[in-house]
Amino acid sequence: MAEHPTRTGGCHCGAVSYRIDGPVRDIIACHCGQCRKTTGHYLPAASVNRRHFSMTEDRGLKWYRASESAGRGFCTECGSSLFWLGDGSEHISIVAGTLDDATGLKLQGHIFTATKGAYYELEPDLPSWPAGDGGAFPMPE
Ligand SMILES: [Zn+2]
Ligand SMILES: [Zn+2]
Repeated sequence: MAEHPTRTGGCHCGAVSYRIDGPVRDIIACHCGQCRKTTGHYLPAASVNRRHFSMTEDRGLKWYRASESAGRGFCTECGSSLFWLGDGSEHISIVAGTLDDATGLKLQGHIFTATKGAYYELEPDLPSWPAGDGGAFPMPE
């Protein structure tokens, strides 16, 4: 069984923090309208199985019902966007910029590019999908 570094992360002010003790999926950038509105640009997300994920501080955490099937976790103190969680999902998406140290992780693709902002271009050497990736990027165990 592979060893995985313990990773930590959190919001800007410290009212939300978390810890990961397991494999982390590389970063996928989502360009959907929700991600663009809630982050101000697009959302680069890692993903982990929830059994390897724990909150170490949640006094600032609030879940916003962004759609009928998912919530977005953010900090009520500083406004940082941190999490995306589909209802009933085994995996939680973690906004890459909230990791204290993302060493070893890399941006591996773009999704929902059909709704990307008009003011930027995508890296031409990375795969992209107009909507979801259709399972091209497997979730971590
Ligand atoms: Zn905060
Ligand atoms: Zn999105």
